[in-house]
Amino acid sequence: MDINVNKFFDKQLKLKNFSERQLDQLLSSKVLFIGMGGLGNPAAVYLLSVGIGCLTFADFDKVEFHNLHRQFLFNDDDIGSSKAVTAANSLQSNYPHAAISVLDSRMDERQLFEQVKDYDLVMDCSDNFETRYIVNDVCIEANIPLVSGSASEEVGQVISFQNTAASPCYECLFPRKQFLGEESCDRLGIMTPVLGVIGSMMALMAVNLLLNPQTSTSTFTKIDSGTMKITQSTLQKDIHCEACSI
Ligand SMILES: [Zn+2]
Repeated sequence: MDINVNKFFDKQLKLKNFSERQLDQLLSSKVLFIGMGGLGNPAAVYLLSVGIGCLTFADFDKVEFHNLHRQFLFNDDDIGSSKAVTAANSLQSNYPHAAISVLDSRMDERQLFEQVKDYDLVMDCSDNFETRYIVNDVCIEANIPLVSGSASEEVGQVISFQNTAASPCYECLFPRKQFLGEESCDRLGIMTPVLGVIGSMMALMAVNLLLNPQTSTSTFTKIDSGTMKITQSTLQKDIHCEACSI
């Protein structure tokens, strides 16, 4: 569908610090989503709503009944269907400016690398450490910026990585020797609004990385919904990191 993008994004173009040039930049940006569950749903909506022009949803999971109360892009009729395909179908008509594509089969590390290198940024919305380490490895290898989100119980966290030679990576913060055996988010409970907060923050961090790559820093933000406490720190590279400092 042909749309007048300036009219579609009129409210955003009224922002004092947002220009048509920046909108064009977002419209020409390509973002790959890993995981279209509780974090992928809100993060994708907000990246589309801000004007990202090309998104790919990678997820081989199927929609299940117990997903429905928090993964709002799916409904009862979608149970058993591909999450990636269903999310793409659900969003495409609302965001005609965007090209949304889907990867709904399981990929090994090499196949994921072949995909990742064609994108400007990766959103890691997966729910387990094993996937996060693979995504981190391929983003380092391809020098692609990464925004990583996670949420379990009452706590959510979001981290941005530029993945330049001097910047830290996911494993600088969470070494796999220490965390690979940790319980995954998919087995723990979740205070569902935390997913909305983290998904939205992931979208904001992605926009900052895409529009201001030079001034963006790697930040770690943690939100505890039990205490409503938000903490943020700037990350430093671990010179002994086995993923990015070898
Ligand atoms: Zn590292």
